[in-house]
Amino acid sequence: MSKIFIVEDEEKLANVLEKYIRAEGFDLVIFDRGDQVVEAVHQQKPDLILLDIMLPGKSGIEICKELRQFSEIPIVMTTARVDEIDRLLGLELGADDYICKPFSPREVVARIKAILRRTRHDPVELESKNTGLILDRPNYQAAIDGVALQLTPIEFKILAALYGPPSRVLKRDTLMNHMYDDHRAVSDRTVDSHVANLRKKLKEAKPDSDYIHPVYGIGYRYL
Ligand code: CA
Repeated sequence: MSKIFIVEDEEKLANVLEKYIRAEGFDLVIFDRGDQVVEAVHQQKPDLILLDIMLPGKSGIEICKELRQFSEIPIVMTTARVDEIDRLLGLELGADDYICKPFSPREVVARIKAILRRTRHDPVELESKNTGLILDRPNYQAAIDGVALQLTPIEFKILAALYGPPSRVLKRDTLMNHMYDDHRAVSDRTVDSHVANLRKKLKEAKPDSDYIHPVYGIGYRYL
């Protein structure tokens, strides 16, 4: 049974969502404020989170950013303002979907099911987002348009860390943790040089591609 977190401080809305989502047989935890959500995701590992933006304790935007530092959990953000969606997209939070209020609970359930279906049964398609880049994580292999890339283990780990929902941004620190199992500290320049080599190999394999972008002062963005 899939477990879903609903983070919503409007009690009525939370109750309606609860009714519809439970009716689909999902397990459900409701939070009416933002400050315990990240810790709860750590501990309970839900399959999807429906995340309001304006919340007491901690905003949905902050929560989303924090979750993306360690988790690929599907995040559906809900907002009361249509015009905010553009701004949210601009922030490149790495959320999987945005739903504007007022919404029909049926629509929310349909989107939840669609996202869970994608993540469950077709991870390759979800991950590659039709970019031609496919990762075979268990075998440390990557391929573009069916042609295998010759990556070092560290380059593969960087690619695997960045690879996922488009617009994902990872800090250099986070990439470092993915690069070395022993959590050793290396300089930013070391990270940058591995990423540069990786980008070069991606470009060689597909000259018109642009999978990894530097984000000034922070780290790197995927797509
Ligand atoms: Ca709210």
